[in-house]
Amino acid sequence: MGLLDKHVLDALNAVPLMKDAASGLYSSLEGVASTLKISMPTFYVAGTPKVIHPVLEELAKLPSAAALSKDTVLLSEPMLKLLGSTDLTQPISQELKAVLSHEMHHCSNHTGILLAKFVPIFALPAIALTATYLYDRAQAKKAATPKPEDIERAATETRKELPKDEKGSGFLDNLIYYGKYVAIGVAATAAGLLTARYVSRHFEFAADSFGAGMTDKGAMASALEKVLGTTHDLLASHPKGGIFSRIIGETIQAHPSLTERVANILR
Ligand SMILES: [Zn+2]
Repeated sequence: MGLLDKHVLDALNAVPLMKDAASGLYSSLEGVASTLKISMPTFYVAGTPKVIHPVLEELAKLPSAAALSKDTVLLSEPMLKLLGSTDLTQPISQELKAVLSHEMHHCSNHTGILLAKFVPIFALPAIALTATYLYDRAQAKKAATPKPEDIERAATETRKELPKDEKGSGFLDNLIYYGKYVAIGVAATAAGLLTARYVSRHFEFAADSFGAGMTDKGAMASALEKVLGTTHDLLASHPKGGIFSRIIGETIQAHPSLTERVANILR
């Protein structure tokens, strides 16, 4: 478990579900773990948040589940209630199994998801800017290397005429030079965000399909409808975050809409 996950679990007063107290939950998910060829993650249930923070409150009070790392899944009490599995010594409902299979699918490719989401955002601008810089440098070198005919011409030219390179390079040139880098940086960041968004949607659809495969299409679809229906209603009443963080958050996360996800499962 990573440091960040420890902090999240700690801030939420999350308690691990022990094998004997949650025997029904763990046995219901054995087949899922073996299909994914992963060891069974530890499931945690969020308690009362230690810190007052809207995101933490939401995680604890709304029906939510999240794969925090490759071996840690966090879920909330309201999720268990909503999907009808409060006695975890009993086999869990098909709907909860569908949702937890979805999360375990995220566990199975957790590193891949992180890389695929964040690499484009940082790597694309870096690659684009480095490429531009190297191209500019190569061009400058080419311009600076005199061709034999230029040397000949320079030799016959009078001294009062400056070589081309020493003229200009004024404010406008600088503006164009640096402006180009800014524009390329911005374009590459936008491309990175869009790539991350595409990848994120891809992982969601894949996890939904897997959840449906481990249960049935109806269970996955109705679980999503219940969970997202409730979450949407509650979230709508208190929108959070500044405009900037919301745009970035929504672009990267970009969970496909409920309709899109249900359509993907039923396809
Ligand atoms: Zn997901």
